[in-house]
Amino acid sequence: MRKRDFLKIFSVGTVSAIALSSVAWSCLGTDGKKGLKNWAWIHPVESSDPAHSGDAWKKLLTNLKKWGIDSALILTQNNSILGEVLPIAKECGIELHAWIIALNWPDKTTMKEHPSWYVVNGKGESCVDKPAYVDDYNWLCPSNPEVIGFMKKRVQELCSIDGLAGVHLDYIRYPDVVLAPEHKAKYNIPQDDLVHPQFDYCYCDVCRSQFKKLSGTDPLTMPDQATNDAWLNFRFDSVTNLVNELYDTVHKSGKVLSAAVFPTPYLSKFRVRQDWVKWKLDDVMTMIYHRYEHKPVEWIETATREGVEALAGKIPYYSGLHLFHLTPKELGLATKLSLKAGASGIVLFSGNRMNEDYWKYMEKEI
Ligand SMILES: [Zn+2]
Repeated sequence: MRKRDFLKIFSVGTVSAIALSSVAWSCLGTDGKKGLKNWAWIHPVESSDPAHSGDAWKKLLTNLKKWGIDSALILTQNNSILGEVLPIAKECGIELHAWIIALNWPDKTTMKEHPSWYVVNGKGESCVDKPAYVDDYNWLCPSNPEVIGFMKKRVQELCSIDGLAGVHLDYIRYPDVVLAPEHKAKYNIPQDDLVHPQFDYCYCDVCRSQFKKLSGTDPLTMPDQATNDAWLNFRFDSVTNLVNELYDTVHKSGKVLSAAVFPTPYLSKFRVRQDWVKWKLDDVMTMIYHRYEHKPVEWIETATREGVEALAGKIPYYSGLHLFHLTPKELGLATKLSLKAGASGIVLFSGNRMNEDYWKYMEKEI
């Protein structure tokens, strides 16, 4: 399997997600949109001459604005990219958020200095030595107070940047307990829909000791590891607590926090322990990538409705639409179905792939 391809499919889908701002609201009255906010995930533009990367960003953001996008979530692997793009985004009238890969952290130095920060599976194997699926599946444990501190520091550094509207969390979850149907098929990974110790996390010392304090039981020796409700809830709460801490951190700086999550509340909890309906967030973006689920485009409406109803108005919900899976006509349909099901707007994956043909169909729906 090509590692790079594999990792791609689990982020919002890339290279390796309300507080409507005054900027966004000011647009609504003038461009005729239906009180919606639309977003795009964007990644660094390809430019053969780095000296002209500013021109490439300007072209991309000018086009996105023209194509109904209010806010861009920019992949931020190095904070310096924000210094380059923020002034251009401001000029183009696009709100900019830093999109970060949160817990999938295959950083050699961190693994060497802090192996205890990383998740351990139900067989007692650390993802540092024996990662699941591919070599780079090295994930930080959200229960570990040192990891929480590390994540807060990352987010605080971003929040100190003037003009940045917010922080967007991707990979804010456990490794996949079970893969989506398309990924099992495409990468020939035989897997049923049961919980197996090899893919079940996290049994690190911190998780074991925290759970033992709560329940009196060591999860590593529990006979019903896969089905024990208290143990399941512990993992949900572990991610929820981290997100909530980051929310408070971000809000102290007057910025907003959003996240990219799995397509429905049920699939998110079952596959990656994301109980995002309970998270403190300003905006939530679901990755409703129907092809990964072997579903028709129409499933986007079902999945959107499930999320919108579960949130019950608590957080604005945006349907993440995968342009690589949609023809221009299908993007029109997916947009229409998302809004019909109650989404507050859509998020394009990716803004870099957007074009006039797509806009022709999307424009009719927003
Ligand atoms: Zn752990």
